[in-house]
Amino acid sequence: MCKKVKFKLLRIGVLALQGDVSEHIETTDMALREMNVEGEVITIKRENQIDKVHGLIIPGGESTTIGRIAEHYGLLSKIRDASSAGMPIFGTCAGLILMAKHVRDAMTGKIEQPILGILDVEVIRNAFGRQRESFESYIEIPKIGKACFPGIFIRAPAVSSVLSDEVEVLASYEGKIAAIQQDNRIGIAFHPELTTDTRFHEFFIELILKSPFIEGEGFFKLEEENIHERE
Ligand code: GLN
Repeated sequence: MCKKVKFKLLRIGVLALQGDVSEHIETTDMALREMNVEGEVITIKRENQIDKVHGLIIPGGESTTIGRIAEHYGLLSKIRDASSAGMPIFGTCAGLILMAKHVRDAMTGKIEQPILGILDVEVIRNAFGRQRESFESYIEIPKIGKACFPGIFIRAPAVSSVLSDEVEVLASYEGKIAAIQQDNRIGIAFHPELTTDTRFHEFFIELILKSPFIEGEGFFKLEEENIHERE
């Protein structure tokens, strides 16, 4: 049963410099509808747009490209500031790489690329191999529900070490950490936006609705306590 929630417009941003932006927009829209939450999803291309959203999604794609463009437009420091202020951030694949504190490439060992450093983890790029080793597998993620989640791994990274107690491991695949949460930041190695399963996006929306970042703004009031219940 979903309960209807009424509040002022929720706005979620998708960083739109490169990668699977439209897929995230679509899945987030689907998740909002699923939850009966009124909101809109907008693309973020410039740093002044960050102030307009209550949560940010960083898509999969090519982390070096996204990182370089984001740095060029002053988006990296702006996102870092928003994150310290409590804004919920959700990164998938390249997004996870960008959020990590340390990054290494499994093939080249190279470590130099612009990143955000907002998740206390080290991430290895291409940890599951290159493009031709991409695969799909159902994985268990108890925090988002009993049914296994369809994990699409495309040149996927993995978390190679967790650097603080604040980091919660949400899922692993073949001994490699594939999804984590640190406070209101989520980083996952696979691509929920390429599936029709909206549970990860719903989980992120719930984080936004509960976040002190929203409450701090003072205009974002829920009229019902229960945000969302899933059968
Ligand atoms: N391997 C890519 C990178 O390093 C990430 C792949 C993806 O987002 N599907 O950016």
